[in-house]
Amino acid sequence: MIRLTPSVYFNPREAGASNNGIIERDNDVVFVDTSEWLKNTEHDLKFLSTKIGKPVRFLINTHHHPDHTFGNQLFTCDIIASYRATEMFKQNETELPTWLKTEKEKEALENLCRVKIAYPNVFVKDKLRLDDSTPLIELTHLGGHTPDSLVVHVPKERVIFTGDLIFQGSHPFLVGSNIDEWINALEWLQKCGAKLFLPGHGNACGVTEVLLMREYLSKFKTNLKSLKSRGLSAKEIAGNPDLLQLPGLDKPQRVQRNVLYQYDKV
Ligand SMILES: [Zn+2]
Repeated sequence: MIRLTPSVYFNPREAGASNNGIIERDNDVVFVDTSEWLKNTEHDLKFLSTKIGKPVRFLINTHHHPDHTFGNQLFTCDIIASYRATEMFKQNETELPTWLKTEKEKEALENLCRVKIAYPNVFVKDKLRLDDSTPLIELTHLGGHTPDSLVVHVPKERVIFTGDLIFQGSHPFLVGSNIDEWINALEWLQKCGAKLFLPGHGNACGVTEVLLMREYLSKFKTNLKSLKSRGLSAKEIAGNPDLLQLPGLDKPQRVQRNVLYQYDKV
């Protein structure tokens, strides 16, 4: 965890794993996202008790993906998420037995065996303001990456946790995403007044990264549509992702799955 502003701590994890954060308020803290690995969330909680020493009032999930929520069970506080989250947490619960059956890696399997899905209990419809302490925190449901994606803004410090609406330095994960909604969400982010953007994956960044993300999504959609109209199948494009002329980024293996999912939607 690194302290980036007077109230905001951020843990940009290595190798593209999902990031977490803490917002320190007058008498308590608000956690933003947990990790797929219970040991990572346990480590963040240890940091909290030794370095900050305040109780957790809320845990916020920026969306339901396992790499942002599988540490939820370690919290006894209220868990806040979008009003669309419950149906998506149910999907996680339904898919967990399959993930357990198919996980080959020993450490990952041991971790998965410990996971119990912990659901949110406070919901954001459009906006929710946490004004019971300072600094004020504003949550806004935007969708895009997933139907339940939301962002967490600390206006006083001009910092915003974007969840997976920004993948900094790597190809985004577009399975289950609505690209048009995502582009609208990025337009909202551009205008929200924040200066520091804390992405779900990658390093803290500025508004330039919001623009790059928007360009990436537009390019992906336009080029996929044009290849499709020239008669190429989803499999042909997925087998030769260079055809999409996307920028060179980490996690190129995501492009294949993105093509297979988005082909029918463009
Ligand atoms: Zn995600």
